[in-house]
Amino acid sequence: MSLIAMLALAAASATPVPYTLIEGQVRGDVQPDGNSIVIEGPKELLVIDTGRHPEHTDKIIALAKARNKPITAIVNTHWHLDHATGNARIRAAYPGARLYASTAVEGALHGFLIRDVDKAKASLDDPAVPELRKIDTRLYLKAISDPANLIPDQPVNGPMSIPLGESELQLHLARHAATEGDVWGHDPASKTVFAGDLVVAPLPFFDTGCAEGWRQALAEIDQLDFQTLVPGHGLPMDHAAFSSYRKAFDAFTACAESSQPTATCVATWMQQGAAFVAMHPDPKYTEAALGYYVDRILRVPAKRSELCGK
Ligand SMILES: [Zn+2]
Repeated sequence: MSLIAMLALAAASATPVPYTLIEGQVRGDVQPDGNSIVIEGPKELLVIDTGRHPEHTDKIIALAKARNKPITAIVNTHWHLDHATGNARIRAAYPGARLYASTAVEGALHGFLIRDVDKAKASLDDPAVPELRKIDTRLYLKAISDPANLIPDQPVNGPMSIPLGESELQLHLARHAATEGDVWGHDPASKTVFAGDLVVAPLPFFDTGCAEGWRQALAEIDQLDFQTLVPGHGLPMDHAAFSSYRKAFDAFTACAESSQPTATCVATWMQQGAAFVAMHPDPKYTEAALGYYVDRILRVPAKRSELCGK
């Protein structure tokens, strides 16, 4: 279904909250932006994920100006900077916007997010590094030097909801899934799930992921009555497409946890997740990433215990 058709559907019934998807760009030469969703209340707007690049975040702000409604809440599905860098830019325009996120970002600001700071700073002085990369590096350094715009003023520690007029957006927390704490949204009225990077094309990214918790989160989502799921990257899908993603995820991670050859596990996702693999122009990229995750993360006991919190 097209976005326009979806919005028309949302507008046609009384209760569901209408939303607009601002699709994140994934290009080879620069770091990606995650998807953003702008949900419209009677007097206010709520934004799920704010992107990385100013060009992306400015589309959110332009929409708010066009609707003539303030952004009063930002939800970060997780702390990855392709979803959270834009927080600061939105709050510069709308200082009242409250930030809802899990507290996992606090650990990341002492670990994953600062691991490569020295390398990043050094790369700015390296004439061999392309300018587009340096732009991304400056965005990264600026984001981590401004923790107040990454750390939530409303932590999501479990199920909660944000009121929007007579409706509400329900928030859920998945522990140790794509990150240590992933927030996902559910609007029962429009039967829509906003999954963040729990669902991503062309493959799930395990750099900060724990297979076990992630499987549980997907199982929990699958039990809900929903029609549309908006992923962290890529286009919205229906429940059946999500269920096939979940099946492929379970099969791939079960393979990674067995003694099957890496190539078998890679082939498992390439076949069962074919619909998602097709969303990226280069299947070789997906194959290489799958192999890397099996060998370097999913089968490394120290990584597993770090990322699964045990
Ligand atoms: Zn992402």
